[in-house]
Amino acid sequence: MQSTTRTEQTEVHVFGLAIATEKLIVGGGIVIIGAVLIFAGALLHNLLVALAGAGALGIVAWRGMVWRQRQRDSLRENLQATIRHDLKKRGLASFSLPECLHGFGANAKVAREAAESVYEEFYRKALADLRITSKEQAILDALRGKLEMDEVTTNKIATRIRQARFHTEVSSRLADGVLTAGEASDLRRIRAALGLTEAQALDSTRSQIVDAYRALFRQFISDGILSDEEMAQLQEFREATGMDPAEAAKITKDDALGLYRRTVTIVCQDGEVTERELRQLERLESVLGLEPRDTAPLQEQIAKVRRLAAIRAGKLPSIRTQALLRSSEIAHYASACVHEWETATQTKTAEGKLFVTNQRLIFQSDLKSLDVRIPRILNVIRYTNAVALEMTTMKGQGRYFVKDAELLEAILDAVIRYSNRVRSEGLDSSRSRHIPDPVKIEVWHRDGGRCVRCSAAEYLEYDHIIPHSRGGSNSAQNVQLLCRKCNLAKGAEIV
Ligand SMILES: [Zn+2]
Repeated sequence: MQSTTRTEQTEVHVFGLAIATEKLIVGGGIVIIGAVLIFAGALLHNLLVALAGAGALGIVAWRGMVWRQRQRDSLRENLQATIRHDLKKRGLASFSLPECLHGFGANAKVAREAAESVYEEFYRKALADLRITSKEQAILDALRGKLEMDEVTTNKIATRIRQARFHTEVSSRLADGVLTAGEASDLRRIRAALGLTEAQALDSTRSQIVDAYRALFRQFISDGILSDEEMAQLQEFREATGMDPAEAAKITKDDALGLYRRTVTIVCQDGEVTERELRQLERLESVLGLEPRDTAPLQEQIAKVRRLAAIRAGKLPSIRTQALLRSSEIAHYASACVHEWETATQTKTAEGKLFVTNQRLIFQSDLKSLDVRIPRILNVIRYTNAVALEMTTMKGQGRYFVKDAELLEAILDAVIRYSNRVRSEGLDSSRSRHIPDPVKIEVWHRDGGRCVRCSAAEYLEYDHIIPHSRGGSNSAQNVQLLCRKCNLAKGAEIV
């Protein structure tokens, strides 16, 4: 007996468990498990268990949503099919939406969605040839009435479909990453036919157009020049895709600034910016859509080069000075200066003041003072922070460290020329330092348009690794990009 009872109890127990298990599975038991797990997790302070419980609850909620959505989708699809069928069978004139809806039990939202989908289908078909004829429009208007839709809604649908269509047309043409002139004019025609505004066109296919425009721009400027033809192509691209010029300028700003910076660096390298080059830069600035504040530091660089070039050409500044000058003497330069010279046994320095007049070079200090007539200067070698002079005698020979060595060199250049002495071939340092343009472009690419020491992108200069005055060549191997700061630092190392 005992054993029988025990068996029965076990069976009942097992049966009960089976029922409970079935209930759990069928009746959203996961919710209960989840809740129990959360509870257990909280009790045991076991975060992992609690998370598992929360996850299970989430899955249940998500599955419920999916299920409801599926129900609604299938209801809407059935309704759509019915509307389509009725329209075809009865014709637009005798079609009735309420009759269609009758017996569907669809809520207002589902009914509206179904009607909109049907309208979309009709509109897409009508637009297949890229234009809606007045006859087609009349049908669409009638359809709108029958489907009980308002004009705001149908206009929205129309714009959306037109944009999607334009997007498709753009995609197929940009598949190879290039927009040819023919393709651009196709797109322009299509955009006009679709009656899309520039903003609407760009909106539909924005990222694609932006990427393609940037790629095209980069391709065009890779050789350092933006030709008229290339600019025309860019304009065509903008017009075709409805890109606003200001918008386009924003997209290409970084690349444009890189090109502009390189052009300025190249143009400035030979120490001269001609009127023609200046006009080219202005034009470049405007076609690249760069703003003055973007190019301000570069403008300063240009202004300085031009100032120095003007001095070299003979427009010498006159300076009032306390120095004792002769009656016909004009001071062109005055600056604090450290003079460094060699004696038979050592290198000496003196801190004082340097003057350049139309007749003499004058250095005054407590330790040493000297003045040398300009015609005695044989050679001028500019370092970044100093100018070295070779004289016909030992007097005055040596290096002169000043704040602005370029200015000193330019002034010496001019006064020497003015003093009527013919300088020897090797003397015209600015000309022989000239680096050919292809080398400049090669170096720019190699160094990535940045200072090779600190990666700065401002105030870049072409630097001779082995100074020209020491026989360094103008080849790419001997030329590098340095920013002004690093160039100054390098000058200090060499001198
Ligand atoms: Zn640097």
